[in-house]
Amino acid sequence: MQKNDEIILKITDITNEGSGVGKYEGMAVFTPQTAVGDTAKVKILKVKKTYAYGKVLELITPSPDRTTPDCEVSGKCGGCVFRHIDYKAEAKLKEDKVYQAIKRIGGVDLKPSPIIIPDNTCRYRNKAEYPLNSDGKVGFYAFHSHRVIPCSNCLLQPEIFKNIAEETENWIKENRISIYNETAHKGLLRHLYIRIAEATNEIMVTLVINGTAIAHSDKLIDSLKSVCGDSLKSVQINFNTDNTNVILGKKCKTIYGEDYITDILCGIKVRLSPLSFYQVNRDMAEKLYKKAREYACPQNKNILDLYCGAGTIGLSMAKEAKSIIGVEIIPEAIEDAKFNAKQNNIENARFICGDAAASAEILKNEGISADVIIVDPPRKGCEASLINSITNDFSPERVIYVSCDPATLARDIAIFNANGYILKEYTPVDLFPRTSHVETVALLIRTNQKI
Ligand code: SAH
Repeated sequence: MQKNDEIILKITDITNEGSGVGKYEGMAVFTPQTAVGDTAKVKILKVKKTYAYGKVLELITPSPDRTTPDCEVSGKCGGCVFRHIDYKAEAKLKEDKVYQAIKRIGGVDLKPSPIIIPDNTCRYRNKAEYPLNSDGKVGFYAFHSHRVIPCSNCLLQPEIFKNIAEETENWIKENRISIYNETAHKGLLRHLYIRIAEATNEIMVTLVINGTAIAHSDKLIDSLKSVCGDSLKSVQINFNTDNTNVILGKKCKTIYGEDYITDILCGIKVRLSPLSFYQVNRDMAEKLYKKAREYACPQNKNILDLYCGAGTIGLSMAKEAKSIIGVEIIPEAIEDAKFNAKQNNIENARFICGDAAASAEILKNEGISADVIIVDPPRKGCEASLINSITNDFSPERVIYVSCDPATLARDIAIFNANGYILKEYTPVDLFPRTSHVETVALLIRTNQKI
């Protein structure tokens, strides 16, 4: 196979990133924007030793899962890799992707409980961080690129975000606001960042800037008030002068309203700053936490909530639990967690700022015991030393593992297994419909049989 070859390819699988794959002369050919069951004429763009990349020239037989994308930047923007297939098929793919990872990487052949899916696959996000193109138009990055595809009306975002984005674009134009250029590391406005607390309808707008101030912000605030009305609760500037692709800098300044907005999640009031971690799909986060609680059986238990963010999972179980100890590495998130405990009159929760593995060691030395341990790590999963400490030092009856990456979840389950914890049950939860991401919650229980 060579570059520029045109081949007929049958798509038989989907990668973790949502790209279709077919086999041709023993080689895997990755072809974005295809669906399992498609037969297509594909042009080869790049050839490696055992695989190649292609793009569709013509669909010969479309997959029965196909549907017409309802978004004008579908296929260009890197976000919704599944907008061209039926949602039911997407959910099935995601469920299977989790099962395959647990089987192949984790070495456990256990079928998942049915994937939990949303009522609504559109406009479910409560947060947008739009980069801007050189014309001051907001948008999203193309797949595997930092090229901005202009789009103010993303179908994953609430409708009000479109109005805010368009007002901001007008303000940029009228006031000739300079736009940040990543390559040159020059220009001022880097991102438009919007958050909404759905339960209260409070909106927070943050301008991320490469500088110390932004002119004419008073005019922007006036137009934002006109589109959001009383819902506009906070306008902030976030300072990020680093030459980095990390979106937010560490400092913020409020230029209108409050420093925080407040949402309600599983009955818990949650304060959000621009820097707080918060699940982007509130409805589905509630379903995820509900499942985590069902697995945890928190009644009268001592619970450790590792990687706790603003404390939301632990706090949602605090009323029934005996005690909650949350551990999180970001100091601001721990401040949020402490505040959240207080504003919900929760007195049996304590929060510690530190690395999960190091803090587990400290807690053990303090003589703390745990009946249930919840872990909710970032994509890279847990460190093996933390898993060993959980199983050997704390030996809780149950471990609840909340994961945003099935591959690292599966890898970690294998370690838990070797340490005498078996995977009892697990449930994929689709927090991110139309995108390649899927969340999973797993219940591991102690068996005292080490391998
Ligand atoms: N459980 C929370 C947050 C989950 S996101 C919720 O449901 O909202 C994962 C969290 O792990 C982030 O808040 C991140 O800051 C934190 N984190 C990342 N590395 C960590 C580490 N080594 N030790 C402790 N926390 C860490």
